[in-house]
Amino acid sequence: MAKIIDGKKISQQMKDELKEKAERLKEKGKTGALAVIQVGQDPASSVYVRNKKNACAYIGIESLAYELPEETTEEELLKLIDELNGKEQVKGILVQLPLPKHICEDKVIRAISPKKDVDGFHPQSVGAMTIGEPGFLPCTPAGIIQLLKRSDVEIGGKHCVIIGRSNIVGKPMAILMLRENATVTVTHSKTKNLKEICRQADILIVAMGKPQFIGAEYVKEGAVVIDVGIHRDENNKLCGDVKFAEAEPLASAITPVPGGVGPMTIAMLMNNCVQSIEEE
Ligand code: NAD
Repeated sequence: MAKIIDGKKISQQMKDELKEKAERLKEKGKTGALAVIQVGQDPASSVYVRNKKNACAYIGIESLAYELPEETTEEELLKLIDELNGKEQVKGILVQLPLPKHICEDKVIRAISPKKDVDGFHPQSVGAMTIGEPGFLPCTPAGIIQLLKRSDVEIGGKHCVIIGRSNIVGKPMAILMLRENATVTVTHSKTKNLKEICRQADILIVAMGKPQFIGAEYVKEGAVVIDVGIHRDENNKLCGDVKFAEAEPLASAITPVPGGVGPMTIAMLMNNCVQSIEEE
């Protein structure tokens, strides 16, 4: 029987710590707002944006919502970001992805001042993370590090296999696990012998975006399994990339979906916002 890593509980602990920290900063006159920009009305994005606003309210940070129409031009969006970069009270700028196809995401990410890049996606933030300099860490991988540490999972010297090499999860996850002294293997859609490689993992982090793909045959007995995927199954229930019922009996610890990695992403976003207010 695996220990269930409770992301809901751990994220709540983190948010309570951050709330206290934000209060202490306020007493010193340090405050700030998170600007959240959404272009169009993708329903999943609207849920994420609402959760982020609620988290700000809980922590006691002001949030400024910019809900722009689908037909907003790239130029208009870049102009808004430029204005927000110049506003002293705005300490964090978040553009909800994905953006409509006519807007270049890379350009938008680069337009955000690295000082306000609370998503940690700007090339300068990525570079700083890679060489271990201070900067904002991307929220999902940083949240996974917190999940592991706060669940007393030892990382140093362990073999961590990551499935997925996206810029927002897989790649930064590999860097952060290296920083924690894990031995890291990154696998992806062109990897051969995926099962054999996964079966060598002490810590298996799955971010492939394929509903319930990873079954028992990928999991070594005693492994820690972290499921990053979020999907809706045929009954509209949330599920991950891992077949939980198959992996759980083999694993020593495992994250559920929902209630695993997901809540940590928002907690880390709040962490980055408070860090930005602190560092002003
Ligand atoms: P992505 O589609 O950008 O990347 C998927 C990665 O998986 C790719 O690098 C690809 O090479 C790899 N992959 C695909 N099929 C594979 C296969 N058969 N074998 C090996 N590798 C394979 O996705 P992403 O943005 O990294 O997100 C991954 C999942 O995590 C999605 O389900 C997404 O919804 C979820 N997600 C969750 C959170 C959260 O807060 N919980 C945050 C971000 C993403």
